[in-house]
Amino acid sequence: MAEIRDDADQISGDLTELRRAIHAEPEIGRHLPRTQEKVLAALDGLPLEIGRGRALSSVTAVLRGDRPGGTVLLRGDMDALPVAERTGLPYASRVDGVMHACGHDLHTAMLAGAARLLSARRAELAGNVIFMFQPAEEIAGGAELMIAEGVLDAAGERPVAAFALHVSSSLLPLGMLASRDGAVLAAADTLEVTVHGRGGHGSQPHMAADPIPAACEIVTALQALVTRRFDVFDPVVITVGSFHAGTASNVIPDEARLAASIRSFSGQARAKVMDAAPRVVRDVASAHGMSATAEFTDGYPVTVNDATEVTFAERVVADVFGDGRYLRMPNPLTGSEDFSYVLDQVPGAFLMLGACPPDVDPATAPYNHSAEAVFDDAVLADGTALLAELALRRLTAG
Ligand SMILES: [Zn+2]
Ligand SMILES: [Zn+2]
Repeated sequence: MAEIRDDADQISGDLTELRRAIHAEPEIGRHLPRTQEKVLAALDGLPLEIGRGRALSSVTAVLRGDRPGGTVLLRGDMDALPVAERTGLPYASRVDGVMHACGHDLHTAMLAGAARLLSARRAELAGNVIFMFQPAEEIAGGAELMIAEGVLDAAGERPVAAFALHVSSSLLPLGMLASRDGAVLAAADTLEVTVHGRGGHGSQPHMAADPIPAACEIVTALQALVTRRFDVFDPVVITVGSFHAGTASNVIPDEARLAASIRSFSGQARAKVMDAAPRVVRDVASAHGMSATAEFTDGYPVTVNDATEVTFAERVVADVFGDGRYLRMPNPLTGSEDFSYVLDQVPGAFLMLGACPPDVDPATAPYNHSAEAVFDDAVLADGTALLAELALRRLTAG
């Protein structure tokens, strides 16, 4: 039988066509009816059990192999971003202000391709594969919604492993795969603070309760919290990116507001900062005779790879593509991902795949989310082959 990689090369024309069709007609958020339609058309005729989401336009497809075994989940996200595309590509977005600037169009096409390749190998497949086509990665936690709607139990039993690929328009050379043990992406949360003072005349601060000096102390106290309370090898990042108070130099305002983005790389550090930061805020305000409210808005949790599964994925990459195609990342990336919700419940691995065009320097290429980000179609066949190989081999391994 031909290698999966050869099979993937055979369908690379269809993969490119599907990817470009999705790219030209991007959709944002939970409801992606046209993208869902394209996915269903690509899966049409394959021996899959297909389910659609209720709260979101997801597609869950289950392939049952002819041989007994466990279940593996493969995930591809499908949503675009509110970015006005400036790539000048012939298949650029035809929707004003919306662009597949994170490459999720490639993820969707590769997952549909993997469903096709694995369907053709149903006879050798020892178990089930769940194909998770997910909306709303960028804004609304689509993975969480799909889990609530039962994606992890779609095959009738919990998956033994879960895998996802994410393309990158920069940093990695074309076709290079990268990942690491443990945390691979950060948790990103937001802290919003209001210091409640009492306004007055700027000439008589003792008659008022000035929230501005207290808010300034809160900013520096949060930085001291980062350096004094957290392990340098399990760091957190707190950036106060917004600070607003007052209207005139001679008027003491009633309140001051600030907002911080908080990144962490372990569940322990995240829990600790979520407890400690609001306490610092309230206690500094209280020391000045004022009150403060501190509200956390949860972002996505830390994306944590399972050591065994990432080692397995490394071996598959070396076996399928040869040496020199895998980079062990020294550090996690500071972005965040809602595949983290899947990896909280199922051991697995999240791998980056370089999609920077070969004539562009990855070090200076526009990043994912840029209006100029370009993802090369050339990675589609390899990405598809890798997803299919990960499922097939993981099930064979038992
Ligand atoms: Zn993104
Ligand atoms: Zn993304």
